[in-house]
Amino acid sequence: MKILVTGGLGFIGSHTSVELINKGYDVTIIDNLVNSNISVLKNIEKITGIRPEFHKIDLRNKNELKKKFRSNIFNGVIHFAALKSVSESVKNPELYLTNNVEATKNLLDFIASKNRKTNLIFSSSCTVYGQAKKLPINESSPVVKQESPYGESKKICEEIIRNEIVINKNINGISLRYFNPIGAHESSLIGEHPKGIPENLVPYITQFAIGKRKELIIFGNDYPTIDGTCIRDYIHIKDLANAHVSALEFLSKMKKENFYDFFNVGTGRGTTVLELIKIFEDTNNIKLKYKIGNRRAGDIIAAYADIKKINTTIGWYAKNTISNALKTAWNWEKQQSKLNDN
Ligand code: NAD
Ligand code: UDP
Repeated sequence: MKILVTGGLGFIGSHTSVELINKGYDVTIIDNLVNSNISVLKNIEKITGIRPEFHKIDLRNKNELKKKFRSNIFNGVIHFAALKSVSESVKNPELYLTNNVEATKNLLDFIASKNRKTNLIFSSSCTVYGQAKKLPINESSPVVKQESPYGESKKICEEIIRNEIVINKNINGISLRYFNPIGAHESSLIGEHPKGIPENLVPYITQFAIGKRKELIIFGNDYPTIDGTCIRDYIHIKDLANAHVSALEFLSKMKKENFYDFFNVGTGRGTTVLELIKIFEDTNNIKLKYKIGNRRAGDIIAAYADIKKINTTIGWYAKNTISNALKTAWNWEKQQSKLNDN
């Protein structure tokens, strides 16, 4: 089975490529390296013993894919490539529409041009639900107007994928709506590489713990939750990576044509910011001297997944704990710091 992985050198793409290779898939990665490093390729090889084929391609360039893969056939495509910073998207909405939406259109155009059965998995986000009225959030929860161009780009991409599949019987597809991926590979060879100051909690915590950031601020402790801090569904990156493998397996057995559906990928459990900090401290035996600050604009109070649909339809569920994810995240940060010292 030949699988094309777009954005395959990024955080989620690299972990998914490892899981795919370990299960015997023949992986080809494309990435424009805007938010990743070519050294990830070598590290995927170190982990799996196999160096996937790699092409530096920018998906915004309409004809590059077609030219590069004129005679290639892919059974599956996993589409990770996107820009993902909410704050950057607010400053530069145009960039997010071209990079995330145009890139997805170009990829669909490439897949359609092959006239062959192709299974497509798309990286979507729980962002599409906004602050859901009912928790845990199930897939019937409405997709709402987005607060950021990043969220909007995910919503639009889901729609254009669905619209393409309605008219193209060669493509079956799934959008996976991720909750909050955290952690790193147990080898510490691949992990999350945030550009500049991390926006996400876990990479911020590890950078603070290693001394790269001066202070750790909790964005508000006056929310209507058990300890006043926001609730999220943190999922181990390895579990998230395996959700893609399970989704591909599910699609490869699919008898229907024009099949499209979307699934939450989370653990089904909500954790507050303070609870997560405590787990980090206990797991890694480190005390974090945090401060309480103001709420962050646009933050939703609570989001955690109802995972019944992916459990019962695809048979996937999360196996790893937050503690294990926070251990791997910390080991990864220490490894990065050692590499930078040398
Ligand atoms: P990442 O930035 O680590 O990986 C994305 C990769 O895509 C990078 O390697 C980048 O260089 C590449 N890329 C970006 N634009 C490209 C283009 N035009 N052409 C080719 N390559 C391009 O991000 P990630 O955390 O691995 O996220 C992967 C996907 O999952 C993204 O679509 C993101 O929106 C989605 N997602 C991420 C999260 C999260 O918390 N990390 C949550 C929900 C959804
Ligand atoms: N958060 C925080 N301090 C930080 C970074 C994040 O208190 O330095 C909080 C943030 O307000 C949110 C939670 O941690 O309540 C998770 O934030 P993240 O950006 O990781 O995920 P998202 O909010 O995008 O789901």
